[in-house]
Amino acid sequence: MKKVNKRTLIKQFYPYMQGTSLRLKWFSLLKFRNERPHWFNNQIRINSAFPPYPSQPFDRIVDIIKNQKRLPHTIDFAVTSMCPYHCPHCSYGKRKKEDLSTNEILTLIEEIKDLGTAILGITGGEPMIRSDLEKIVSACSPELSTILYTTGFNVSKKRAKELYDAHIDSIIIGIDSTDTKIQDQVRGGEGVTGTRNTSTTTM
Ligand code: SF4
Repeated sequence: MKKVNKRTLIKQFYPYMQGTSLRLKWFSLLKFRNERPHWFNNQIRINSAFPPYPSQPFDRIVDIIKNQKRLPHTIDFAVTSMCPYHCPHCSYGKRKKEDLSTNEILTLIEEIKDLGTAILGITGGEPMIRSDLEKIVSACSPELSTILYTTGFNVSKKRAKELYDAHIDSIIIGIDSTDTKIQDQVRGGEGVTGTRNTSTTTM
C-alpha cells in the first residue's frame, strides 16, 4: 500500500467539491483531516468505512451528500442471528434463530442497490458462520461497497482469499481486550483471541 500525496488528492477530489456549500467543504475538511489515504488495487482508500475511489459506491455517496438526498448512504444487514459466542451485552440472544435464505438475501441486496445506497455493512450474529457469505458479498459489487463485521470466527487463509476474490472492501474485527482471558470471558467462548489473531494476520 502506497500513501497518496496531497497533490493527487486535490487533483482527484477537488472536482467533487465544486458547487458545494462552504459548510460542506469545511465539514469534509474537518472530517477527513486525520485520515491517511493510500493506494490499494489502483484505488484510493481514505479509511475503512468510506468507499474506495474511483468506484460506483464512491459516486453514490458523493451524490447523496452533495445533493442532500434523503436516503441511507449505509445500511447494516444482519445476515444471520447465529453466533458461536455468548456475550452478555448481545442484543441477539433472545431473538428468533431463523435466517433468511440465500435467495431472499440476494433479492434484498438488489432492492438496496435500487434505493441508491452506497455501503452495506454485513453483520449478525456472526456472519462468518454463513457458508454463502462470499456469494452475498459478491452480489453487492459493483454498486455497493462492503464492510464485514466479525469476531474473526471461522477464518482461514482460504476463506480470506475467497472474501478478497468476492470483492470485500473492509473487514472489521471486534476486539474487547488484549488479554486472551478477558476476551474469552466477554465472548463466552474459548480460544476467541486465538481465532482472532489468526484472522488478523491472515486478513
Ligand atoms: S460475538 Fe457479537 S453476535 Fe456473537 S454473542 Fe457476541 S455480541 Fe452477540
